[in-house]
Amino acid sequence: MMFTVKAWSKGRARSGILQIVGGSSCEIAIETPALLLSTRKGLPAFISPDLLPSLPSPDSHILQFSPLHFLEGLTPETMANCGGLHQMLGLHEYGFAAVPRDSIVCLPECNGTNKIGASFETPCGRLLIKSLEYMKMISSMKPNLWATLADEVPAWVSIKRNKNSVDRTVRWLDECIALSSTGGAVFGAIVGGSSVEERRRCAQEVAKRNVSGYWLGGFGLGESMDERSPLLNAVTDNLPEQKPRQICGLGLPEEVLQGIASGVDLFDSTYIYDLTIGGFALIFPFDQIERNVSDSQPSAIGGDQTKINLKATVYRKDISPIVDGCSCYACQNHTKAYINHLLNVHEIHNTHHYLGFFRAIRQAIKEGKFEQFRQQFIENRRHQIFAASLGS
Ligand SMILES: [Zn+2]
Repeated sequence: MMFTVKAWSKGRARSGILQIVGGSSCEIAIETPALLLSTRKGLPAFISPDLLPSLPSPDSHILQFSPLHFLEGLTPETMANCGGLHQMLGLHEYGFAAVPRDSIVCLPECNGTNKIGASFETPCGRLLIKSLEYMKMISSMKPNLWATLADEVPAWVSIKRNKNSVDRTVRWLDECIALSSTGGAVFGAIVGGSSVEERRRCAQEVAKRNVSGYWLGGFGLGESMDERSPLLNAVTDNLPEQKPRQICGLGLPEEVLQGIASGVDLFDSTYIYDLTIGGFALIFPFDQIERNVSDSQPSAIGGDQTKINLKATVYRKDISPIVDGCSCYACQNHTKAYINHLLNVHEIHNTHHYLGFFRAIRQAIKEGKFEQFRQQFIENRRHQIFAASLGS
């Protein structure tokens, strides 16, 4: 894996290039800040493998998964015999990034975690995962990059519990590195809950280790948006600039912009999954160029002016696409009426739309205008959500 920072906007926001080698030794280079596609067992929940290539390339060529997803099915031995995830799924032109956390299926469960392992609520019940088991899974799946095991705690735990989580996470990092037999790039997990001091301490400890990048754990677990920026900055200010930073748990556009403002490079797409499950399709504009958002009909039913709810009966006979001019597979081929009928197709639109949002952010950073972009975006969004609340 190679990472190069190419441009800085004023402050901490930066854009760069992340290069990895895919399954059939093909080069994959993506620009950052980037959205990694969250998956269930290596595939996005509602996008079939034959439709994956219709997403903007190469933006969408790194798939994120949690090794814990595979606990109920294949054993590490079987996966190792298959030759790893690339081989098993037949996705040779894609990169895989493994993280211990998954916000939907395998939630971190801090009460069951102890000094020997991290506890998760999984479809197979509550499980305690030790470094050795975690590394067995990583070694058999052969991801391109992987984050070390972490003790993630919510924002409200005691100071003592939070300190423990930092000590454990650093110790597990050393264990994971010692047990690693895979060629993938190691991302050192950083925790510290809602304490600026513990965040800083953890970042400083992990920065001393021989890792290729950093995974910021424990965010999106109950901290408020106001307290988050100082926590993020306490981490990124203590990390070397030339290595990539990945995060889980920041999903909303406002949260993504907050992470980027603190110098985070890689995000997950759990937000897309949540929207899609709820029947929502994204329509918010993100380009300097005016997007022709189809808002002539009472689109706020179950949504606002940033997203619409395609389950609403008003779309049953609507023969326009989700967003006029959107080049994604769903908008090119289907009407709202058909999607209302078929619903599942629109994860592809939401993913496409969010990838476009990230592209606009990278452009703003390259032009040194990230802060203006962020402020204007949030202002517009407030206005849109406010207008919808008045029943526009
Ligand atoms: Zn679309």
